Amino acid sequence: MGASHRQSNIKHGKRQSLATAFLDNSRQRSNLKVLTKTLVTKVVIDSQSKQAKGVEFVTRNKKFHVRATKEVILSAGAVNTPQLLMLSGVGPKDQLSKLEIPLITDLPVGKNLIEHPTLILMVRSDYNAPKVGPNKLIQQYLNGCGTLTQAGNMDGVGYIRTKNDSKEVPTIEILFSVPPHIDVSILQREFNYNKDINNNLLNKINPQTDIFFYIVLLHPKSRGQIFLKSSCPIDFPNIDLNMFAEQEDVETLIEGVEYVQNLLNTDAFKKINATLLEVPICTNFKMGSKEYLECLIRNLAGTLYHPSGTAAMGPNNGKFVVSDTLQVHGIRNLRVIDTSIFPSSISGHLNAPTVMVAEKAADLIKQEHKHL
Ligand SMILES: Cc1cc2nc3c(=O)[nH]c(=O)nc-3n(C[C@H](O)[C@H](O)[C@H](O)COP(=O)(O)OP(=O)(O)OC[C@H]3O[C@@H](n4cnc5c(N)ncnc54)[C@H](O)[C@@H]3O)c2cc1C
Repeated sequence: MGASHRQSNIKHGKRQSLATAFLDNSRQRSNLKVLTKTLVTKVVIDSQSKQAKGVEFVTRNKKFHVRATKEVILSAGAVNTPQLLMLSGVGPKDQLSKLEIPLITDLPVGKNLIEHPTLILMVRSDYNAPKVGPNKLIQQYLNGCGTLTQAGNMDGVGYIRTKNDSKEVPTIEILFSVPPHIDVSILQREFNYNKDINNNLLNKINPQTDIFFYIVLLHPKSRGQIFLKSSCPIDFPNIDLNMFAEQEDVETLIEGVEYVQNLLNTDAFKKINATLLEVPICTNFKMGSKEYLECLIRNLAGTLYHPSGTAAMGPNNGKFVVSDTLQVHGIRNLRVIDTSIFPSSISGHLNAPTVMVAEKAADLIKQEHKHL
């Protein structure tokens, strides 16, 4: 459907987080206080009036309680926002009662967890990227150019629609990462590959010649869930991605893999002798067969770190958590503004849509409070 260079938030060669892009300019405001190394442990909700009153948090070994004069806004992300809601008594009744958390409102918090399953194909080529030494790389970086200034060293992105799809949106994203790669060990951490894959695949990567294709399933049918492990706020919640529970997801991703295999047969890739690196698994299947590709996907695919959907926006019918103004159903003065509120999957990466949601929410809040 289209291909382009990848766009990133980069200023003078350095990646900009939203904190640097937005907060840095506002730090001097008298009505803004930012606390770091601080853990919010609970939203305080009055069980009678069902009104959010403030939050409890812990910082530097001390517990604090802060009262909200207008409303509480939760932006802890798609994993921790549902955790905090559940710890505060807003969530699935059965889960909260098991952990003896007093129920304030029964809502499907933590359900509908959406991810973008991703398989990386690694390809060897005859192309040899010029070697640049560390001194030169650092010099380039300080001047705002060179390999170290590229986000994830990913140069290209393309979107395709597979046969399996009836909608007018792309179903597969292909990210294209070119040599030279600086440090492939990050892939090990990112995808949690086992020792065998690490030794027999990643350690064989040639950073000067090898090309990576990230094949991303944009609209998976499978849904996961965030569960509380305990009622203690410092325990991480359980993340059950439930990836590939729906066979259709495997089949659509196979189509993405086949697309890349066909791409390798084009003149441009043939010219540089592009060939898939052998993966030391699934050897009992015929290489390239559907069974082989399914085995590869089920064993090697990881996430793109795009969790969303765990406090989904929609009507107050028991299936959704927040309204179209992002207020938690059944609770007054409590709003969620982060990727949790996406009701369905996004045809791309989540950073820009999250900013868009936040900008829209800021307008709604300004509008609502302008007469107060
Ligand atoms: C490694 C990685 C790479 C990514 N790359 C890209 C990319 O290239 N492009 C793109 O578009 N997207 C990318 N994403 C996705 C994107 O960063 C997220 O989708 C986006 O940041 C989600 O925004 P959010 O506000 O929902 O949550 P977050 O950005 O996760 O913000 C939640 C914040 O809440 C804080 N928090 C959580 N719990 C508590 C608590 N109890 N008390 C106090 N604070 C708390 C967290 O520390 C965090 O700062 C990437 C994500 C990861 C992890």
